[in-house]
Amino acid sequence: MIHFDNSYARLPDGFFARVDPTPVPAPRLLALNQPLADRLGLDADWLRGPEGVAMLSGNAMPEGAEPIAQAYAGHQFGGFVPQLGDGRAVLLGEVVGPDGARFDIQLKGSGRTPFSRQGDGRAWIGPVLREYAVSEFMAAMGVPTTRALAAVATGETVWRENGFPGGVLTRVAASHIRVGTFQFFAVRGDEARLASLTDHVIARHYPQATGPLSLLDHIVARQAETIAAWMALGFIHGVMNTDNMAVSGETIDYGPCAFMDGYHPDTVFSSIDHAGRYAWAQQPQIAVWNLAQLASCLIPLMGERDAAIEAATRSVHAFAPLYEAAWLRRFGEKLGLTGVAPVKDLAEGLLTLMARERADFTRVFAGLADGGARDEFTDPTAFDAWAEGWRRSDPDPALMAHANPRRIPRNHRIEAAIASAVAGDMAPFEHLFLAVTHPREDRADWADLARAPLPEQAVRQTFCGT
Ligand code: AMP
Ligand code: MG
Repeated sequence: MIHFDNSYARLPDGFFARVDPTPVPAPRLLALNQPLADRLGLDADWLRGPEGVAMLSGNAMPEGAEPIAQAYAGHQFGGFVPQLGDGRAVLLGEVVGPDGARFDIQLKGSGRTPFSRQGDGRAWIGPVLREYAVSEFMAAMGVPTTRALAAVATGETVWRENGFPGGVLTRVAASHIRVGTFQFFAVRGDEARLASLTDHVIARHYPQATGPLSLLDHIVARQAETIAAWMALGFIHGVMNTDNMAVSGETIDYGPCAFMDGYHPDTVFSSIDHAGRYAWAQQPQIAVWNLAQLASCLIPLMGERDAAIEAATRSVHAFAPLYEAAWLRRFGEKLGLTGVAPVKDLAEGLLTLMARERADFTRVFAGLADGGARDEFTDPTAFDAWAEGWRRSDPDPALMAHANPRRIPRNHRIEAAIASAVAGDMAPFEHLFLAVTHPREDRADWADLARAPLPEQAVRQTFCGT
């Protein structure tokens, strides 16, 4: 039993298409996130049972579900597409947890919708498990993100460059409303629906916002925090199109995303990001670009045009100082420093040394607390000089231990776990999952997962998997 309360499905016509998931032949539960089920007030035993698995695979809808595919548009790599929408996902409905927080329950990979275009509406278990592990690691590190409630195998073959076992991810989010959702109505000149959407987003995510401009201010501020959190983990989203930016500030649409092993600011993993538009160091600028698109959608709702443009521009420009402050706080914590310490110089100094050798991002920061960082440099002379200055600022080990994960879901580990899952063995995935969702703890049998890949193990390219 799930008690749904579907506020998005109550919006006027034109926001979505009603569509049922397409049934699958042989659903099998691969993973269920019990702590998240508890947080949502859902009965994990019910979810694991036949009715639960039927829902999680899209084979049967429980009472109260109102499956819809949401409409949205978006700039993909800078080019505008007036209609994208949920082409392989359906929103089952919303649940309100015991603490009063509202969440979307969405199936991803659940079959074709009116927005599928040429796509098959499906996913395979590789990207499903990848998103499951990466999003839950992000949550464990306190990064705003969509969550993963369950992964099922469908018993169907999904054809990409090869045949792969099909899968469905159950994604949980404060909402799935994107910058591209606003663009969908703005490009159609549909001010009435734009206003309804704005009211909905204010009521749902930013009740303190007093109108469209104030909403923009809040979204800008939250996005600045989210991007700073990505940067502090060496995370590269890989496909920061406006349709993949949630207005809630949650990290959304984990596709070709990855964490850097060796640090370099220009790192790109996505196989389709030839120009490095979404490289690690580009992410703050791209966020601003996306927020400027949102701003231009909201301008028609902001009264007299010239004044509205000026105010919206100011709002978007506030990203830079907010981001800078969040970045300094995050990297300060990574170095164990707060307040007046010279965080900027120390952090930039260390990153410069790391980039020179492509020293391992996670291991250098995790190693600051126990002296292991030095070993990450082939030539530690410059690091030693840096560390002398850093120690003079009296770093706090507890801050560092909280900010720096011991382990991240490294590409080569995820890929190995997926390969085992494809072969029918979920044990490596379960092992990896537990280790990365307890990223600050040490356990003897997790030590291996903290290692950087050997050159021949390193994964340098990731795929959308769509
Ligand atoms: P993405 O860049 O993966 O977030 O997807 C961009 C657009 O393509 C969205 O409208 C998706 O719904 C759609 N899409 C991606 N993969 C598929 C698929 N296998 N079938 C149908 N639509 C898809
Ligand atoms: Mg997307």
